[in-house]
Amino acid sequence: MGTTLLKKVWDLHTVRQMPTGQTQLFIGLHLVHEVTTPQAFDTLRARGWKVARPDRTFATADHIVPTTVQTRPFLDVMAEDMMASLERNCRDFGIRLAGLGDERQGIVHVIGPELGLTQPGMTIACGDSHTSTHGAFGAVAFGIGTSQVRDVLASQCLALEPVKVRRIRLVGTLPSGVYAKDVILTIIQRLGVRGGTGYAYEYAGDTIERMSMDERMTICNMSIEGGARVGYVNPDDATFEYIKGRPFAPVGEAFERAKTWWRSMASDPGAAYDDEVEIRAEELTPVVTWGVNPGQSIGIDGHVPAPGDPGVERQAVSDALDYMGLRPGQPIAGMKVDVAFIGSCTNGRLSDLREAARIVRGRRVAPHVKALVVPGSASVGRAAEREGLADVFRDAGFEWRNAGCSMCLGMNPDKLEGNQVCAASSNRNFKGRQGSPTGRTLLMSPAMVAAAAVSGEVIDVREIVDR
Ligand code: SF4
Repeated sequence: MGTTLLKKVWDLHTVRQMPTGQTQLFIGLHLVHEVTTPQAFDTLRARGWKVARPDRTFATADHIVPTTVQTRPFLDVMAEDMMASLERNCRDFGIRLAGLGDERQGIVHVIGPELGLTQPGMTIACGDSHTSTHGAFGAVAFGIGTSQVRDVLASQCLALEPVKVRRIRLVGTLPSGVYAKDVILTIIQRLGVRGGTGYAYEYAGDTIERMSMDERMTICNMSIEGGARVGYVNPDDATFEYIKGRPFAPVGEAFERAKTWWRSMASDPGAAYDDEVEIRAEELTPVVTWGVNPGQSIGIDGHVPAPGDPGVERQAVSDALDYMGLRPGQPIAGMKVDVAFIGSCTNGRLSDLREAARIVRGRRVAPHVKALVVPGSASVGRAAEREGLADVFRDAGFEWRNAGCSMCLGMNPDKLEGNQVCAASSNRNFKGRQGSPTGRTLLMSPAMVAAAAVSGEVIDVREIVDR
């Protein structure tokens, strides 16, 4: 019987089985940022410990970074403290840092792949939930908390519960105007926000195989929102092509050797899975969330549910409708938006900006909408400026910002105000997620955000393109 990628990588990285039933895994790459690490480094310092493998640790600044004026010290004292701690900790513990002003700086899950740090068959950890993004390369990548960050810094190992594997096969051709974001929102809607508990999601099928690495990253990124521990795609030629020539990729003969090994890490054709799901691509439509978790979503032609609808959790639906200011049964199309945000580790890559710019070109942001584009990394920002995309956005009335997490979670000055409604290309629509305790988030693809920005309301992007 064949073996899954998850099991191959897991077995190769096992240090020992623990009496708790957990496995101690060696971590090939530890990505570090400013928010979840200060206490972890403080513990190391207090105990006189070193970072076990600084050569396998890489840091950047993203969550708190202002995206307009970046003069130091930052106006926000807490943000300045976190930034200064990261710089001091990287200096003291010998860790490479792509800090502010460094051309490699950006959201941790954007720069890992961009720099070629993320490679197939690796175990990766980072103190951020959306570390599953790196699974797009056939890595097994875990989002971890601050105490686990401390453990990985000190030992380069992580104690983990066993994980089952669910293969999700996407077959057929996506209709025009339907994107990777719609695929993952549909998966989460169908399987539930806790449906992946205890599972790794392996994304497979001809639709996934034809996807670019950017699209695969969007899908893997949100695995965690479906409750899965990790998400991954088997490495293939598209993966190797993406990695080749990147700063930390192997070169020459070493690259060819690596490629052979990477290919061998893919799940075997006869591998056994704990569960299998198939989704037909041509059934999918653009998806928008209406509620307060990423599973509360509907197709753009749909109506939000009513608490009394069959099969819905009455209280959860009622709470979500109240919070979002929606009437039961209201169509989602036509909902007025106040803010449009294009960015984040889910959809802040160059291909996302290209697609959004295609919608925006020659149009104007609706007068009542504040619209911003925040590239996922400094490198994405530079490339978009070279291609003229930044000008397309500026000409349409978008604000063009520097790279960072920005309004994905509002830990920098980019926050919603009051109960503003935001069309967002990010990954979480929890209550208060975008910096205002009463702010309302509608998750959708970057193209749909662009369409909402110019229309001033939620609209089917396919109508705009066809107009
Ligand atoms: S963009 Fe959002 S989800 Fe991604 S790393 Fe930043 S805060 Fe986390």
